[in-house]
Amino acid sequence: MQDALPDTVIPRRAGSQALRLSGRLPGAALPRLSAAFRQVEALRVDLVFSEAGTDRVLVTGQAQTRVRARCQRCLEEFEMGINADIEVEFGLPDAVSAHAREVLTGLDDKLLLSEFLEDELLLGAPMTTLHEAGDCYPPGAIEEAEELPPARRNPFGDLTKLLGNKD
Ligand SMILES: [Zn+2]
Repeated sequence: MQDALPDTVIPRRAGSQALRLSGRLPGAALPRLSAAFRQVEALRVDLVFSEAGTDRVLVTGQAQTRVRARCQRCLEEFEMGINADIEVEFGLPDAVSAHAREVLTGLDDKLLLSEFLEDELLLGAPMTTLHEAGDCYPPGAIEEAEELPPARRNPFGDLTKLLGNKD
């Protein structure tokens, strides 16, 4: 398997060639993703370009990686996967998808692959990073839960207390 991906592709040309891209992108190529999450492995990419009618190219595939993030409930770091299922059309300006897909202009422009993948990954990334519900508790939550009935507990109150109480 070839690991090197091209930096750029031209969607129209890639579509007419039925180009298939498979490989890895290092975290250094994905600065926005790296700023939000600590990547623990290279991004695995699998993309297929195909013609989808006149002036239309369909790109499908997947991009996936694993990152370390801090759980906002228990404040421990944990590892999680970030995956993007990609299904995007490239068309001319003002093009509208007949299949309710995202349509990007730039059919004949150089597409910077890393930027495109980063956009798709960040769209699919969670806004908040948390362990599964019930898998963890805020530090000190168990003693507190005995003092207060659940309805009166305010999760932001807990957070404020934690933030003001770093030692
Ligand atoms: Zn947690």
